[in-house]
Amino acid sequence: MKLTSVQRLKSSYFLKDLLRHSKNTIGQLITAGLNDLMPPHCLSCHKEILQPQSICEDCWPQLSFLTQPICHCCGYPFENNIGISNQSYCAACHAKRPHFHMARAAVTYNDLSRDLLLKFKHGDQQHIAPLFTRWLNMAALHFPEDIDVDYVIPIPLHRKRLIKRRFNQAALLAKRYAKQNDLIYIPNLLQRIKPTKPQGHLSLKARRRNLQGAFSVPQTFHKKLENRTILIIDDVYTTGSTVEEAAKILRKNGAKDVYILSVARVIRPQKVD
Ligand SMILES: [Zn+2]
Ligand SMILES: [Zn+2]
Repeated sequence: MKLTSVQRLKSSYFLKDLLRHSKNTIGQLITAGLNDLMPPHCLSCHKEILQPQSICEDCWPQLSFLTQPICHCCGYPFENNIGISNQSYCAACHAKRPHFHMARAAVTYNDLSRDLLLKFKHGDQQHIAPLFTRWLNMAALHFPEDIDVDYVIPIPLHRKRLIKRRFNQAALLAKRYAKQNDLIYIPNLLQRIKPTKPQGHLSLKARRRNLQGAFSVPQTFHKKLENRTILIIDDVYTTGSTVEEAAKILRKNGAKDVYILSVARVIRPQKVD
């Protein structure tokens, strides 16, 4: 069977990842040998690079990392810091406080991050997960230090979409993030019980309607959720409607606080309604 260059690249990433986690010297020697044979490539433009599972120096400046000044609640970036403190809220959060306590994202959703995220989500390029998990860790630095997360969960996919796509990209990231931070990962604490329409072109109001009744917490988790702090991981924060609905259901079922962590965030002028 002949492998395409992309398949070869993916299998080498898989093998390197496997060996990186085997902590013995033989594993390290084989990894070094594989790096010589198949040097790491930029995850975006495929240019040869030194550091595996990262992006090159030409692609890096095209990323826009979200830093202060941002909304204390949803993490929306302010244009400047005039009159802004670490506790300032954006217009949308002022008008209606979300059910989640805080949301943070690593980068702005732009050409480069979109390309990487689409490859990860639809192109089955799961070797991008370590890079995204590093970014999630960076974004989490914007949370207060004293947050005590009880469970890490992903935004779930409906069963039908999961069968079609074969994996839940948010679950893959949530699992890695929880493992790296020594937190408890519960993939099915929140379930998607309604197959919602794709939300791409829906207005904010239509998105909210579309998501009504989309999530539920199985009876078996009701006690577990009581008074707990939940961290939801998602790949992209678009309007916040999905995580808002998820947080609402978690709070309704007894969760104390809900935090949101995403790889990228779509930044559009805010519409308050
Ligand atoms: Zn590059
Ligand atoms: Zn806000």
